[in-house]
Amino acid sequence: MKSLLEWVDLLISEGPKYGVFPEFDKSYCIVSPDYIDDAKELFSHLKINVVTGRKFLGGFIGDAQDIQAWLEKKALEWCDAIKKLSCAAQVVPHETFTVFTKSLQKEWCYIQRVVEGTETAFDSIRNEIQKSFLPALTALDLDDVEVNLMLKPSRLAGLGVDDPIYNAKWAYTASKEASLVLSKVICNGQTFDIHAHDEHYKKSSARSKESKDEELRTSVESLLDCLSSERKATLERKLTYKCSTWLAVTPNSQNNFILSANEFRDNVALRYARSPRRLHATCDGCGQNFTINHALKCKTGGLIISRHNEFRNCNADLLGKSGLTQIKIEPVIKEASKSSAALILDFCARGFRGKPNKMHFLTSASLMLMHPHIRVSQFLQFFTTMLRKKKSKYNSAVEELRGSFTPIITTCDGIFDYHGECYLKRMSERLSLKWDRPYSVIMGWLRCRMQMCILRSVSLCIRGSRKRWNNQEAEDGAAIPLVYEC
Ligand SMILES: [Zn+2]
Repeated sequence: MKSLLEWVDLLISEGPKYGVFPEFDKSYCIVSPDYIDDAKELFSHLKINVVTGRKFLGGFIGDAQDIQAWLEKKALEWCDAIKKLSCAAQVVPHETFTVFTKSLQKEWCYIQRVVEGTETAFDSIRNEIQKSFLPALTALDLDDVEVNLMLKPSRLAGLGVDDPIYNAKWAYTASKEASLVLSKVICNGQTFDIHAHDEHYKKSSARSKESKDEELRTSVESLLDCLSSERKATLERKLTYKCSTWLAVTPNSQNNFILSANEFRDNVALRYARSPRRLHATCDGCGQNFTINHALKCKTGGLIISRHNEFRNCNADLLGKSGLTQIKIEPVIKEASKSSAALILDFCARGFRGKPNKMHFLTSASLMLMHPHIRVSQFLQFFTTMLRKKKSKYNSAVEELRGSFTPIITTCDGIFDYHGECYLKRMSERLSLKWDRPYSVIMGWLRCRMQMCILRSVSLCIRGSRKRWNNQEAEDGAAIPLVYEC
């Protein structure tokens, strides 16, 4: 403590030269409870506040009891914030989900990194998330397995809502390990080498992330074993394929990534192989039982055509934005004859693959049924069958036009087949050059844009009206006088 007083004296004498004018009545000296009387005596002439615990740079320094009391107070504030967000989630779930994942949970993530032993303080927050937030967000009655799955990162079949108790265990150890070079320098008074710190930090962070991911993946796999084989197959696809970008993106009005309440909840329910809430019993178009699969395939009312057209127009628009000028929607590749109907593809663009004189034809094919029985191992076979079907129908006509052809096959989860993935990569490359932005940023944005297009289409098929509305049975005003004459 005497050396601390020497530092204070040096600060008083040398500080003003560098513009530092210490105000000791606003300063705190944190000591162990055993030394509090000695410290008060030592610093009494400077009127420095002597305490056993005090918040510092967003964290807390002090004995375990003080830390616990401070954390409990913070936890109460956060529980209150979660309750408020739960109320908002009933009306605007996607916006609330973004506020929670991108802002609120980051507050306790920081404290978990800088304060040791915080696990028990987060019991109440986890309970609040389980009891209020997730049910309000999804509008579903969730069991423990579903909640535990949702509290995982989105790339591991979760929603991206962090489990605060589990994270507390990892965060402090990982942060302490990553800042080891820096803390050693401070404690031993050595010269700081920023390159050594940077290298150690990167290696240590990558190592911690890898171990945490491995543990989380094992935990997800054991949770999936508790589900029925059909639900397990649906969630395994989310683990294997890249179809969860829409949960990680920050939506705003400029990027058009905000989903309506029904769109968000329908797709969260389908992600966990649950039936979306308030489904009608019968189809308003054809009168059959209104299951999810029926909603996604019933052609009455034009919703399927509308879904198809939206995906086609979105892609044709992006091709134009990537700098291609010769784009045609619905090109006729073979005229109708007496024996066969005309062959029409979705869109084509000259020079898409880099050869300026070659027309590239594209068509989208959607595996838009929920296929709970299809396991990941059978999925590739499923894509191949669809690909062969499309190629056998269109390939020869395309070759006669000296063009090339790519069928883009997608599922209602937002998963693309191999050729679809190649198409996305090529498109990202073109947009990256055109917009002068990194390829990885464009790829993430494009993947999300495609997923949003598909997810909105799925919700449209579930919620949209298939009823053919009659007009007022009057084409013009000619029939109106008859009403008065009667
Ligand atoms: Zn129907």
